[in-house]
Amino acid sequence: MSDIILETKGLKKHFPIKKGFFLREVGSVKAVDDIDLTVYRGETLGLVGESGCGKSTLGRALIRLYEPTAGTIQFDGADFLHAKGETLRKSRKDLQMIFQDPYASLDPRMTVGQIIEQPFHIHNMLNQTERRQRVKQLLELVGLKASHVNRYPHEFSGGQRQRISIARAIALDPKLIICDEPVSALDVSIQAQILNLLKDLQARLKLTYVFISHDLSVIEHVCDRIAVMYLGRIVEITSRDELFKNPQHPYTQALMQSIPAIGLGKKKMSKILTGEIPSPINPPSGCTFHPRCPYKMDICVNTTPALRGTPDHLRSCHLDSNMESKFKTNTTTQKELL
Ligand code: SF4
Repeated sequence: MSDIILETKGLKKHFPIKKGFFLREVGSVKAVDDIDLTVYRGETLGLVGESGCGKSTLGRALIRLYEPTAGTIQFDGADFLHAKGETLRKSRKDLQMIFQDPYASLDPRMTVGQIIEQPFHIHNMLNQTERRQRVKQLLELVGLKASHVNRYPHEFSGGQRQRISIARAIALDPKLIICDEPVSALDVSIQAQILNLLKDLQARLKLTYVFISHDLSVIEHVCDRIAVMYLGRIVEITSRDELFKNPQHPYTQALMQSIPAIGLGKKKMSKILTGEIPSPINPPSGCTFHPRCPYKMDICVNTTPALRGTPDHLRSCHLDSNMESKFKTNTTTQKELL
C-alpha cells in the first residue's frame, strides 16, 4: 500500500471561546490538535475513541466542513486546504460524507428522488432525464427499489434512510467518503446490513473510507487500519489485526477491555480507567492521558510523547514498546456479534 490519497500534517481545529460585551477571545477548545494522518487509496481507515475525543471534528476538518485552524491537507496529490473556486468544487465532488443520523440528514420536504438528484444540480451535471435514470440506478445499487423515487424520507425505516444517504454520497462517483458513525443510530440487527453494503460498494466503486466510530467491534468489522484518538490527538495507529493482537498504548488497552465479550456485558470505561476524559479547553500537560493512566511516570506529566515505533505501528507513549500489558485485553473476535 503506497498510493496515498489523503495526507495531513500538523492538522489543528481549535474553536475559539469568546466572552464579554466585545466577545474577546478568552481561550479555545482544542478539538483536533496536531494530527499527522495518511490515508491510502482503497483502504478503510478507522478513527476510534470515546465521545469527545475529536474524531468527528477531524472527519469534518478533513473535508473542510470545518475550516482547519492550522496544518496541511493534501488530497489526491494537490493542496486541498488552500484550494479555491473551480479546484475546490472539483475536489468537493470527490470527497463526500455520510452522517450519523439518517433522520436529521435528509430533508423531510424532499422526495427521495430530489434528495439523490441534489448533487447533480449543485455540480450542474446531466440533463433531467439522465438524472432521473441515474437516481433509479443508485437506488437499486444501495438495495432500494427504483419505484421508491417519489416517496418521502418518513416513509422509510432507519436502515432504508441510511441507504438513501449512501446513494446521495456515491451519486457523483467520489473517491473518498468520510463515514461518521454511520450505523450507531441504527438497530443492531440492521447495522451489519449497512456495513456489508458499504463494503460491497467499496469493492465495486473502488472507494476509500475514513470510518469514524466509538465502537471497536464495528471498527474491527470494516477497517484495514485503525487510528485511536484521545483528546484531539492520535495515540496509536496500526493495522486492524496488529491493534487487536498487540495494543500498545494504555488507552487502547482500556478501550479493548470495554468491548463486550460474547455472553458478557460491556464494561464501562469509567470502571476500567479512573477519572473522566479531561476538558479539551485546558488539556493536561505532557501526555494528556496521564491523569488516568495506571503507568504514569514523571516524564509523562511534562513531556508530550511523540508518535513513534515502527512505520506499521506507531504509538505515543513513553513506556517501552515491549512492555507487557498489565491489562487483560479482550481480543475475542467481535465479528460474530454483528
Ligand atoms: Fe501513560 Fe505515560 Fe504512556 Fe501517557 S506517556 S500513556 S501517561 S505511560
